[in-house]
Amino acid sequence: MPSSLEAKRHSLAHLLAAAVIDLYPKAKRTIGPAIDDGFYYDFDFGKDKVNEEDLARIEDKMKQLLPTWQGFEHSEHSVVEVKKMFKDNPYKLELIDEFSADGQKLSTYTSGEFTDLCRGGHTDDMKDIKADSWQLDRLAGAYWRGNEKNKMLTRIYGLAFDTKKELDDYLKQREEAAKRDHRKLGKELKLFTFSDYVGPGLPLWLPYGAVLAEELEKLAKETEFKAGYKIIRTPHIAKESMYKTSGHLPYYQESMYPPLTLDEEGTKTVYYLKAMNCPHHHQVYAAEPRSYRDLPLRLAEYGTVYRYDWLIARSHAFHE
Ligand SMILES: [Zn+2]
Repeated sequence: MPSSLEAKRHSLAHLLAAAVIDLYPKAKRTIGPAIDDGFYYDFDFGKDKVNEEDLARIEDKMKQLLPTWQGFEHSEHSVVEVKKMFKDNPYKLELIDEFSADGQKLSTYTSGEFTDLCRGGHTDDMKDIKADSWQLDRLAGAYWRGNEKNKMLTRIYGLAFDTKKELDDYLKQREEAAKRDHRKLGKELKLFTFSDYVGPGLPLWLPYGAVLAEELEKLAKETEFKAGYKIIRTPHIAKESMYKTSGHLPYYQESMYPPLTLDEEGTKTVYYLKAMNCPHHHQVYAAEPRSYRDLPLRLAEYGTVYRYDWLIARSHAFHE
């Protein structure tokens, strides 16, 4: 059976760790999954400094190791055994404690000289991985377990596809996308700006950008009026109870700004910045008795919502 792309990417993550350990024997490896465009692996390089220029060397080492790997040999171990294997690696020990909490045996996979703690999902045959269909991509910092209280690790990203053509297409597409990056264009065209005093993810719309927004709104409003919509306006904050009633809070709290707590003579009221318009609109609907004969009721708002997505996006990138 041909290997799935995900299996190839996962296998390359092992190969990356093997190459790094070969070149930096003191480095501690942590975790390394397959991702949408390839794979990554997080390392604690200790005192060794690793930068973008070192990627070529690491990639060369991977290319050198690849033909010596055939498949992945699976074995199961008791917690004691596997802890002994990873005794010098506090990260793996932490994972072992977690994975073995239910008393199960732990599994490792070995390729060539390299063994890693892993639950599987590799290529059966490393020959399925075409040498020119992948490459190392870049470095980034990443906190262990995505938690900023933990140590900052070095993440090495690789790109991997089934064929060289797919890799080339991806690189080309990425290059084109970079030219159209809204952050770049926004700056060049003076559409919007950001300020550290205001905060990340909070754009300040400049005249050219505001004109664009006005024009878009104008077009949207014309279209809506034709379809029988009426415009409403609702406030930028609302009580917690509304978001609880609407059911948003349990699902969206993570991407909402922290609550504002008002203390009025000992009575605490919690407010949230608006992260979505719909619960406000439910209240507009509920403001008077309605008949099915009123339907469809078409109301629209150019509401501003505040989300913590920029941080969420960043922290999701840290998740396995
Ligand atoms: Zn694996």
